[in-house]
Amino acid sequence: MNRVTVSVDTCKGCGLCTTACPQKILVLAHNKLNAKGYHPVEVTDMTKCKGCALCALMCPDVALKVEKEV
Ligand code: SF4
Ligand code: SF4
Repeated sequence: MNRVTVSVDTCKGCGLCTTACPQKILVLAHNKLNAKGYHPVEVTDMTKCKGCALCALMCPDVALKVEKEV
């Protein structure tokens, strides 16, 4: 399975990655706050991740790491 890791406390909750993801599996966690006081992004269903890394490319804060299954 492909894997996306979120650096929760680096994320500023801008939501850019949520719009970039073609699978629409990234959402802002409105019930959580990180150390900076932002709602961090979460992966809703990792099994649907295509490993395309568009989310990581889009993130201005380099808060996402994508590992594609080989
Ligand atoms: S790697 Fe692609 S499919 Fe997976 S979460 Fe990021 S944008 Fe979505
Ligand atoms: S683009 Fe980066 S900073 Fe913005 S919500 Fe996504 S992970 Fe967080």
